[in-house]
Amino acid sequence: MQKHADIIDFTEITPSANIAVDRHGARAKCLQRLVRMDLPMPRTVALSFDAVHRIAQGKSPDISALMSCFGPAPLVSVRPSSADFEWGGPASILNIGMNDARHAALCDSHGETAATALYLRFIQSFAVHVARLDPDMFEPEEPSAKALRAALDAYADETDDPFPQDPGRQLLEVLRSMARAWEGTTARLLRQAKGAPADAGLGLVVQAMALGLGPAESGSGVIQFVDGSTGQRRITGRYLVQSQGRDAIAVREGAIFLTRDPRGASLEDRCPDVVAQLRRYGETCRLNLREEMQIDFTIEAGKLWVLDAVRVPRSARGAVRIAVMLADEGIIAREEALRRIEPRAVSELLHSQVDPAGPRQVIAHGIAASPGAATGRLVFGSAAAQASAARGEPCILVRRETTPEDIRGMHAAAGVMTERGGMTSHAAVIARGLGVPCVVGISDMRLNRRDGVLITADGRKLHEGDIVTLDGTSGQVLLGEVAMLEPALDDAFQALMGWAEAACDIGVRANADTPADAQTARRFGADGIGLCRTEHMFFEEDRLTVMHEMIFADRAQDRAAVLARLLPMQRADFTRLFEIMQGLPVCIRLFDPPLHEFLPQSREGVRDLAEALDLPVSDVQRRVQALSEFNPMLGMRGVRLGITIPEIYDMQARAIFEATIEASHNGDPVVPEIMIPLVSAMREVELVKTRIDSLAAAVRTERGVDFDYRLGVMVETPRAALRAGDIAQHAAFLSFGTNDLTQMTYGLSRDDAGRFMGSYVKQGVFAEDPFHILDAEGVGELLKIGAERGRASRPGVTLSICGEHGGNAESIAFCRAAGFDYVSCSPFRVPVARLAAAQLAL
Ligand code: PEP
Ligand code: MG
Repeated sequence: MQKHADIIDFTEITPSANIAVDRHGARAKCLQRLVRMDLPMPRTVALSFDAVHRIAQGKSPDISALMSCFGPAPLVSVRPSSADFEWGGPASILNIGMNDARHAALCDSHGETAATALYLRFIQSFAVHVARLDPDMFEPEEPSAKALRAALDAYADETDDPFPQDPGRQLLEVLRSMARAWEGTTARLLRQAKGAPADAGLGLVVQAMALGLGPAESGSGVIQFVDGSTGQRRITGRYLVQSQGRDAIAVREGAIFLTRDPRGASLEDRCPDVVAQLRRYGETCRLNLREEMQIDFTIEAGKLWVLDAVRVPRSARGAVRIAVMLADEGIIAREEALRRIEPRAVSELLHSQVDPAGPRQVIAHGIAASPGAATGRLVFGSAAAQASAARGEPCILVRRETTPEDIRGMHAAAGVMTERGGMTSHAAVIARGLGVPCVVGISDMRLNRRDGVLITADGRKLHEGDIVTLDGTSGQVLLGEVAMLEPALDDAFQALMGWAEAACDIGVRANADTPADAQTARRFGADGIGLCRTEHMFFEEDRLTVMHEMIFADRAQDRAAVLARLLPMQRADFTRLFEIMQGLPVCIRLFDPPLHEFLPQSREGVRDLAEALDLPVSDVQRRVQALSEFNPMLGMRGVRLGITIPEIYDMQARAIFEATIEASHNGDPVVPEIMIPLVSAMREVELVKTRIDSLAAAVRTERGVDFDYRLGVMVETPRAALRAGDIAQHAAFLSFGTNDLTQMTYGLSRDDAGRFMGSYVKQGVFAEDPFHILDAEGVGELLKIGAERGRASRPGVTLSICGEHGGNAESIAFCRAAGFDYVSCSPFRVPVARLAAAQLAL
């Protein structure tokens, strides 16, 4: 039925009516589907976005024609219907049409208590949501003649007008108030934050009331057939006798179970037929809407009405299980199941999470650098973290920023927080690799190590031993212990990942430095290791000392002696990685960081080192000073170190080749990939390649065993991207290290950006943190140039990305479009990257 009044139209929701999500909203469309499935729904009329917009502007529909859709003297409700349920909307208003006359009539038919309750409820919601009066004056009350009189008087006093008695006027005012609320600035900003476009429209649905109050069995409830937080099949919900709307969910006491339950009374005890009917409707919805729905129902004098149905609200874990179940039952295709899961949500499954439903007291904020949450006692140094771990007490390590010396502390800690740093600072990269929750760049807290106190923005002083919870997913630091949700790597997750792997058309490897990382990478289904940062292998206590000895070796023969001690350690490292990866590709990056990163930073550290090396403190200090650089990230690191002190790369290459022989002998054949970091000129590659080739030849001859290997280059300076054509002549693969490439393209320190990144993003200088989401316009341009030039000079060259961007959905889309072979990211981001990549391929 289509009616015209002036220009504002409305449409009765019937099976054949012309109702569309983009004109009438998702609720109106869903209600039409319920009608088509023949569910018993009260008569309902939809107003389009356009109609509602005109109403907000002061135009009126033909109210009496609208009212007459519902028969004589109707009571109706109005509910919002935007294009996406997530965008919210104004509160629903029930019982429109209640007035003195209707009250009197209902007293006869439904009894005075029910009639008064209905009238009171309408006065309260009209006063608060439409007339915008103080809610305190219209608190819900027990229905009585006195309460009703008081509410009517309060309304009249506050508005200087008696409570409107004309149902048409009531309805028009409700429609206008809801329309205007939607167009207000606050509501617009709120929904824009949830992804709504600035001009998102609101539709409204007007529905005849099913009363839920009155004689015989009357009441209302909400039912769903899966548990939204686990996704397990189980009926949940509540029913409340003599109630309306969502009272059954809102009340603390009085609501009863839906199905028979040893804990108490149930609707099934009272009305088994109604529950059987609801079960059938749930199944009908599941099959026809291809979704698990939550159904709002009302029983009016024994008759069941379905008023509304929405997707069951769900956690990430629930979403995965529901999608997999629907696909397993053939209700949706596997592709559809993959499409329904937000890749970011998958990362929630891999870690503990702060329970979103629980209370939290936030004491500081920073950049969410590694997801998951952990509770522990504060410790301000790595030694304390290790001591805490030894006692079996979880701890949260707090540092101004972390250095390689903190690695052991980070291993021992349940979570890491730093005052400084950004998405690719040391703490962030290491924590993601370890799967440890981490928040960096917490500029609203100060660590004063001397006094052993951590001071928050509101002046709160925390000491070592105090308990905090770190939420690396939101970037918040919370006071004390809070409720958590455990990780869920269950069968549903595994099934979804299997489907994603089958659908993916770009490889997903892991950045893995240790056997533990490699095992995680395998568990999450990585296609290999795309970046093994070998320097991380030297942070263990015994090795750090050997590294120190190497750095302090003055003469080549001394250095050779130390490297000879490191060789078996590295060989064992690589053998283990190859074994774990079982023939999958393993890309090993030669030593990269500036040597001084391996030197002690504190006075105690210098003293410990002097002791270990049996040297005077002054000697050690002098050496540390000699190695210090004004700008170490742009100094003696990467291939520059490899060319200046070639014995280090020689040792690493030999270790890789010997491990290749060993691992291939015992297991799957290994073709190692060796990657040269921080290249900016072709000649650098030539020099390193010549030495590595001759080392390979030497090892082959010594061992009498042949093996293959691939040598490649890490493109992480702008010049390397521009000269990728030359460089590719000597490189079987090019892997874009977008952390350094972003740093150097912007001229923006990856370790210091955290200080102002928030303010830059807030003011729109950068749309996003470029260390987090690949800057497609700038850094991306270099990637495209590098890929094109590399491919032009060497058509089969393998292209990949191994910076932190490798785990980000937008960046993966960019790499896939640019024809890259694979992305590589922290092991814990492999499933996220896999799902994002699969969705792109669907
Ligand atoms: C990079 O620079 O992108 C990279 C992967 O290397 P690292 O983070 O170790 O500098
Ligand atoms: Mg780098």
